[in-house]
Amino acid sequence: MRTIAILGATGSIGTQALDIVRRWPERFSAVCLTAQSSSEKLFELVREFRPRCAALCVEPESIPEDLRFCEWFFGADSTVRALTASGAQDALCAIVGIAGLDAVWRALDVCERVLLANKEALVTGGDLVMRKAAEKGIPLLPVDSEHSAIFQCLQARQGNPVRRLLLTASGGALRDWKKEDMYRATVRDVLAHPTWNMGGKITVDCASMVNKGLEIIEAHHLFQMPAERIDVVVHPQSIIHSMIEFEDGAVLAQLGMPDMRGPIGYAMGYPERIPYEAKRLDFAALAHLDFMAPDLERFPCLGMAVAALKAGGSMPVILNGANEAAVGAFLREQIPFGRIPEVIDAAMQAVPRSEIHSIEDVYRADSAARAAAKSAIGGNA
Ligand code: NAD
Ligand code: MG
Repeated sequence: MRTIAILGATGSIGTQALDIVRRWPERFSAVCLTAQSSSEKLFELVREFRPRCAALCVEPESIPEDLRFCEWFFGADSTVRALTASGAQDALCAIVGIAGLDAVWRALDVCERVLLANKEALVTGGDLVMRKAAEKGIPLLPVDSEHSAIFQCLQARQGNPVRRLLLTASGGALRDWKKEDMYRATVRDVLAHPTWNMGGKITVDCASMVNKGLEIIEAHHLFQMPAERIDVVVHPQSIIHSMIEFEDGAVLAQLGMPDMRGPIGYAMGYPERIPYEAKRLDFAALAHLDFMAPDLERFPCLGMAVAALKAGGSMPVILNGANEAAVGAFLREQIPFGRIPEVIDAAMQAVPRSEIHSIEDVYRADSAARAAAKSAIGGNA
């Protein structure tokens, strides 16, 4: 039996992780559940899973009588306080955005293992997080499907060097759109992801393909691979979750139906595989798998992310902060979709690169990026 904290329990990843806990009550106990503001949803989960600790950043008017058995935490730092008090062995970090960095940082102090969905924590704090995890000997188990796939393929490496990582990309909701139509794509168009059902922010990131750029940076940190040796291939069916190439040209791939409970369960059970009756792959029904090169002209955010990784220092933080600000403005319908890459580019031009030595440096660069993005967005966004 392992105790697990689900940070971001009401989200897409959080609820799918809880589905695994629900199926395997003898293997997992969810001892800490946290969310930002969706109190009603969290109340239901606390009622069902009966954790020791629960947290909401936004304090609700009251806590239902029957839910006072657990210790409640409120406020901006409620996630880390609840995590610490819960004594969970594992932390599933599934908060969206740089808002989840503090939780990852604290989890490395108080948990035995960190299960990482929150890619923005690595994009922004990657060097610091990886160093801390290594110093403390805490495994960082990837939950992002591509990184889980690579991690699974690497189990067969047997000490051999890996020449290249190949990240697959669905291409997002606008994969086949013309450049001129993409600029004015609506929130509704963009949220219609072809293969994965995810939170709003990451779905927008998939449509701009900045998500794949963030994942290149994530892969760079997790697998210590330079940008030049990480490639992206568009694969609309999302059946191959990613691949690794060895020096003899052999390529290993991990395949499965697009269902995040696969990678979430792999991280939760690692090194054991949890039996789970996901839909099996039916190759005859699939008939074929397609692949194409990413179109950097229609998806400029991908190139910007690679440039940010190569520039290093604070540049990935600036890219991420500007993207979070731009995606927020797009979802509030304050800017058209096509402004997202423009806002990121403006912030990367406006904010000078600096070195990152501490988490405070990360937050400073993030604030500067958001200020630059805000002025690029204009108005009272
Ligand atoms: P989501 O928006 O569905 O859920 C986010 C969760 O975090 C919610 O529980 C929310 O209450 C909480 N949260 C949001 N802001 C917070 C804050 N400031 N403080 C504390 N809690 C906060 O997001 P998601 O789609 O589940 O994605 C979570 C993370 O996992 C993201 O980093 C995303 O990139 C990554 N990821 C998601 C998927 C997926 O299939 N959804 C796949 C791969 C990676
Ligand atoms: Mg992914």
